[in-house]
Amino acid sequence: MTFKAFNLNNPLWNALDDAGISIPTHIQKETFPVIMSGRDVLGIAQTGTGKTLAYLLPLLKLWNFNKTRHTSVLIIVPTRELVIQVVETAEMLAKYMNVVVRGVYGGTNLKTQAYELAEGCDILVGTPGRLLDLGYHGSLNLKSIKKLVIDEVDEMLSLGFRSQLQHIFDLLPEKRQNLMFSATMTDDVAQLLEDEFNNPESIEAAPSGTPLDNIHQLAYRIPNFNTKLNLLDILLDAHPEMTKILMFVSTKALADALFHRMEEKHEGKIGVIHSNKDQNYRFNAVNSFKNGSYRMLIATDIVARGIDIEDVSHVINFDLPEEPQNYIHRIGRTGRADKTGEAITFISDFDTEKHAAIEDFMSYVIPQQPLPENLEISDILIEAEKPEIKMKNVLIKLPQVGDNSAFHEKKSKNQKVNIKIRYKDKMMAKYGKPKTRGQKKKKK
Ligand code: AMP
Repeated sequence: MTFKAFNLNNPLWNALDDAGISIPTHIQKETFPVIMSGRDVLGIAQTGTGKTLAYLLPLLKLWNFNKTRHTSVLIIVPTRELVIQVVETAEMLAKYMNVVVRGVYGGTNLKTQAYELAEGCDILVGTPGRLLDLGYHGSLNLKSIKKLVIDEVDEMLSLGFRSQLQHIFDLLPEKRQNLMFSATMTDDVAQLLEDEFNNPESIEAAPSGTPLDNIHQLAYRIPNFNTKLNLLDILLDAHPEMTKILMFVSTKALADALFHRMEEKHEGKIGVIHSNKDQNYRFNAVNSFKNGSYRMLIATDIVARGIDIEDVSHVINFDLPEEPQNYIHRIGRTGRADKTGEAITFISDFDTEKHAAIEDFMSYVIPQQPLPENLEISDILIEAEKPEIKMKNVLIKLPQVGDNSAFHEKKSKNQKVNIKIRYKDKMMAKYGKPKTRGQKKKKK
């Protein structure tokens, strides 16, 4: 089946043709007719399945020109990188149409974005916080929205954006089509669906937790950071076909530490991105990786979510992510759009529980490779790996009332103890469920 079956108009057809995209992916085939019918949709789809085109294509086909440029399509995504990527994809598809697409995200000048918005746009892509700021600033009128897309909603909820989303819903007209995409179906996602969506049709690209078939996974059991570095050196030397490697680590500190150690040997060939690096630094690092100047990019989970880099030959999990879902996200960065890719995972003794949770989640056992014979096993631990030294509890013997010591019982008014009760706990006691300050303004 080709895109011909979608009966696209010429501008869309030509744009796809220019991009060399001719055969729809599974999620694109399934969602197209449902979105065209006007129904709400929940798409369970990981990155790499073609989910962005799955919603943009029908939305652009349904889009009608309006002179006023009142925004009719709102796309909410969790990260700035994803904003940029969705804007690029929409512009690529709409290149032969008279559609204005804009992206807004935090960390940049609010007034400049407000000024640009004032000129009007047809499709608006943004992160929840910045969209709300613009709403409060008075530069965003969402009353003309007809189509709402929430992409990577599971990630958005786990980043704590629920109340911002609620405020945005309150600014939208009730009559609209809702499309939501999530890599995994969590309880929070289900709750949001129930609260805000109108009997959505659920379409799955691949059952949750099922890794894409075209990703070859393998793992090494390896004791510690320094030995992992030694193994990396061996792999990089022995495998010239590892041309574009995205390497994940779970913390910013570890990403930096790894970068500095690897720079010594591979100067100018390695980049690093995480949320403490500024926007420009991140753009430059991603571009150097995209254009092949860097062979490897070291990244933490959240910033890596949004970046779409073609032809990642290998994903390396230098450590294991906290959440099993993130393992799927990580490895989904290779093998994109029906290409094959390889995911290599380093599992240390500290990771036993996370490893079990991942395999359980996927119902798949990652095949383990023996360590190369020439691998030097290091027994030097880095600070983070050293066992915690626990403070000894020193028992202080308190004088008993009635002792002969100089002890007087406190007067009753002085016997009060200051107990700090967290706001969350107070709300829990009062309402039986956690309430945040933000949610207090909730309409319903
Ligand atoms: P996504 O899952 O939306 O992040 O898309 C992953 C990548 O697949 C992007 O680089 C898209 O340009 C590409 N892509 C999406 N749909 C197709 C398709 N039908 N054929 C080939 N590439 C595609």
